[in-house]
Amino acid sequence: MFDAILVGARCAGAPVAMLLARAGYRVLLLDKAPSGTDTLSTHLIHQPGVAALARWGLLDAVRASGCPQLDRVVYEVADIRLEGCARGVEGQRAAFAPRRHVLDAILVEAAAAAGVEVRDRCRVTGLLRDGSGRVVGVEGRHDGRSFSDRAHLVIGADGMRSTVAHLVQAPYTVKDPRLTCAYYTYWQDVPATLELYEAPGSWVAAVATNQGATLVLAYVPQSRFKEVRTDAHRAYREQIRTTAPALDERLHGKEPVERLYGTGDQRNFFRRATGPGWALVGDAGHHKDSITARGISDAFLQADILVGRLIGRLGEDAAELDAALAQFEKERDTALGPGYESTLGVAHLTPHEQRLALLRAVQKDPELTAIYFDLVAGIETAGALYTPKLLALL
Ligand SMILES: Cc1cc2nc3c(=O)[nH]c(=O)nc-3n(C[C@H](O)[C@H](O)[C@H](O)COP(=O)(O)OP(=O)(O)OC[C@H]3O[C@@H](n4cnc5c(N)ncnc54)[C@H](O)[C@@H]3O)c2cc1C
Repeated sequence: MFDAILVGARCAGAPVAMLLARAGYRVLLLDKAPSGTDTLSTHLIHQPGVAALARWGLLDAVRASGCPQLDRVVYEVADIRLEGCARGVEGQRAAFAPRRHVLDAILVEAAAAAGVEVRDRCRVTGLLRDGSGRVVGVEGRHDGRSFSDRAHLVIGADGMRSTVAHLVQAPYTVKDPRLTCAYYTYWQDVPATLELYEAPGSWVAAVATNQGATLVLAYVPQSRFKEVRTDAHRAYREQIRTTAPALDERLHGKEPVERLYGTGDQRNFFRRATGPGWALVGDAGHHKDSITARGISDAFLQADILVGRLIGRLGEDAAELDAALAQFEKERDTALGPGYESTLGVAHLTPHEQRLALLRAVQKDPELTAIYFDLVAGIETAGALYTPKLLALL
């Protein structure tokens, strides 16, 4: 009998498992994928996520992986160019972008070191329930054999297409249409820290990652997905050429070092996050377009909120546990609502004149520029920018 079973061992599941085990709980962490594998995702971790890694004692391992710190951001849109660095949070001014096979392995190793039982290649296919319908465990297949395990709480950390969410029939509480599609690959010897380029119908980014590689991403509107996927490589290069010509020049004469990855399936939703004996964390409960690169940091934030609510209340007393879970859901929605709305705003890929006028004022002042990069990182909400200085400039 475990206290908690986590289904999914990446940036939501592994930290929850680690934090619960550090608090003395007996935890099982399962994933259908082999440990140390990559996943379809780029990997920018904004400062709030970096601060979580530092609090958990894992930032040194990320640095030691050879992943450079991103303490200089360039953002270009229309005639505007902002350059600087966020003010940061908890002393963390830099972002990092470790490859997912690097980051996820660090998180799973930390969970194992905290005493979590980790099983990879283990696919959950069903849930165990008691007579009242309360979830009391999982069943599935591991190495070709059936297994079942019981716990006070089953946590689905199994991504946007969550099996756990499907099995408990977690309803959507918020749902919006898909807005973009994303394509990315890696380039060698293309110096960059963190560069963002925006234009009507387009978003391009360059991000330095492990092994001296630079990740270059391009976003196009969802309405172009059918057309773009017929020759994605051409569309990707064209998007970079027209939106970020200076970056395009640096790519000239070079070939990507990996294949082109892409997706047109970036859903926007909140699901009900909890019920009797179950909870959803990370993308399983809430997903949004990756254009603002918030998913990893938000998964860490959810892990902190959930574990904060569970400590001292995860055990035999079902009513107490359910009350803790309800609090988690409420706090999750409050914490992630504003970032969800601003992400949808960016993902429409239509830079409005009102925002451009604001940015023209911001670019005149390094302090306002730093506050703006705090907004990009999800540290501040838009209100923070409206200082007397900005109002005077406007
Ligand atoms: C193109 C793209 C670019 C992105 N770029 C960024 C970025 O730059 N920065 C950022 O912060 N976020 C980014 N994101 C978002 C980020 O990838 C996700 O928010 C993050 O991976 C969520 O983590 P998770 O642990 O909730 O889910 P996932 O990373 O999806 O992990 C879920 C795990 O559950 C396992 N699983 C699923 N079903 C089962 C089952 N039945 N049994 C056992 N295991 C199961 C899977 O194998 C998987 O390992 C991007 C996403 C995409 C698609």
